[in-house]
Amino acid sequence: MTTNIVESINSVLRFARMLPVVHLIDEITNMLLYWFSQRRDLARKCQSTLCPDLGEKKLRKRLDAASRMNVVKINDEEYNVLDGDMNGLVNLQNRSCTCRKFDLEQLPCKHAIAVCRHLKLNPYSLASSYYTRATWAAAYAEFIYLVPPQGTWVIPDHLHNIKILPPLSKVMPGRRKTQRIPSKGEDRRENKCSRCGVKGHYQNTCKQSFLVTNKQQVA
Ligand SMILES: [Zn+2]
Repeated sequence: MTTNIVESINSVLRFARMLPVVHLIDEITNMLLYWFSQRRDLARKCQSTLCPDLGEKKLRKRLDAASRMNVVKINDEEYNVLDGDMNGLVNLQNRSCTCRKFDLEQLPCKHAIAVCRHLKLNPYSLASSYYTRATWAAAYAEFIYLVPPQGTWVIPDHLHNIKILPPLSKVMPGRRKTQRIPSKGEDRRENKCSRCGVKGHYQNTCKQSFLVTNKQQVA
């Protein structure tokens, strides 16, 4: 997953990577500045309890599904939830369910929500604080400022005489990759021919254009 995030950043900076390093850093700073500002505004305008794209959407779908389930109390902590398919055993104390979604996502599964309905509890109170709007806003609360012009820098005397050299690096042969390597199981967008509109090939390998060219040559 970490590799994939790095690859995504690499993909965004695929053109900027060809610039000299100072301009590349400027480009990265501007990009992060834009991202932080955009997300800070979104978090400020957000009205929902949880982050809309992550927790809120999932929880609302589950609220709907949970309304058709029956809950049987085992003890004060454990409840058996009958959903007509794979029943769930919910433990409110441990915040777990046998469907494992509650344990893994730290967000109430449909079984846990059904228990909340049964006990008249707020299901949002069982969601991890990582999903809340407040956490989302806090992640982008810091401001990013551009680096001021070099003439205005205040450099301590003991750093003035130090020469910092670039790291030794070896340029590998071959053309550099510009496209991200998809993860295992990730859907890859298929190529679409601009001539015939069929997916799986490009215009220059299109069989239809090959047939048309051959017919023209015969005529
Ligand atoms: Zn469950």
